[in-house]
Amino acid sequence: MANWHIAEVISNHFWTDKLFSLKVRCPAEKFTAGQFVRLALQVGDKRVQRAYSLVNPPGSDYAEFYLTYVDDGLLSPALAALTSGDQIEVSYPASGFFTLDEVPDGDNLWLLATGTGVGPYLSMLATQEPWQRFKHIILVHAARWANELSYTQLIGQWQQQYAGQFSYVPVVSRESVPDALYGRIPALITDQQLQQQSEQKLDSHSQVMICGNPDMIKDTKALLETLGLEKNLRRKPGNVTVEQYW
Ligand SMILES: Cc1cc2nc3c(=O)[nH]c(=O)nc-3n(C[C@H](O)[C@H](O)[C@H](O)COP(=O)(O)OP(=O)(O)OC[C@H]3O[C@@H](n4cnc5c(N)ncnc54)[C@H](O)[C@@H]3O)c2cc1C
Repeated sequence: MANWHIAEVISNHFWTDKLFSLKVRCPAEKFTAGQFVRLALQVGDKRVQRAYSLVNPPGSDYAEFYLTYVDDGLLSPALAALTSGDQIEVSYPASGFFTLDEVPDGDNLWLLATGTGVGPYLSMLATQEPWQRFKHIILVHAARWANELSYTQLIGQWQQQYAGQFSYVPVVSRESVPDALYGRIPALITDQQLQQQSEQKLDSHSQVMICGNPDMIKDTKALLETLGLEKNLRRKPGNVTVEQYW
């Protein structure tokens, strides 16, 4: 059963007018990187709660969330309006199976994200597990515009620390910029651009995690199936592990 804690907002950082990172002070509850908790607020006369992935690594004395402001959304605009010192309810324990302990071993680990779907990977990459288990890790972060590619400083630290073991491939779909691939994840797999950019194979020896936009998830899963990568299930281990936000 979920326990609700009152947490105090430490900061609310806006990367763009629609993307923000909310940091709250929380007791260091146990969780596995990739899991989510629920946030709740009173919005008008309703108490509204939604699920959000933890961006911070386990063991932190704060919880961080990477969010999209959904126009006409019920909770996300209220979360965007929070400032330092405000209070919010957070449910623990964290839950969810989008975690590395659910992912079988493989030659390499592909982490595919659109938008705020990069959040759970940031938590995982801050732990030792992926680096100890996989020879190569490829983080693909797709956004519409280049200024939506948040957390590049943190990701840059892993590029330095794990040079040779880590590839970061930013992808932008609405403008062409240097240092990012142009297009959408499924098309960039089909024409081998992701594989060439990271110098890694994407085949039945790979493990792939996918998080973000439901259309991207559906199209990528269907494409990976044609390459021999099956959905990963507890009763039938495969290659593709998915988290669906909506
Ligand atoms: C396991 C899980 C983890 C999640 N983690 C995150 C997270 O880390 N960050 C996050 O921003 N959201 C996350 N979500 C989505 C989140 O729970 C809410 O659905 C979202 O914030 C919208 O809530 P709302 O009340 O503002 O909108 P609602 O009034 O509930 O409207 C829902 C609509 O908002 C849109 N929507 C929902 N989420 C997104 C999104 N991330 N980007 C663009 N459009 C969206 C969809 O069109 C959806 O139909 C997660 C959902 C699940 C199930």
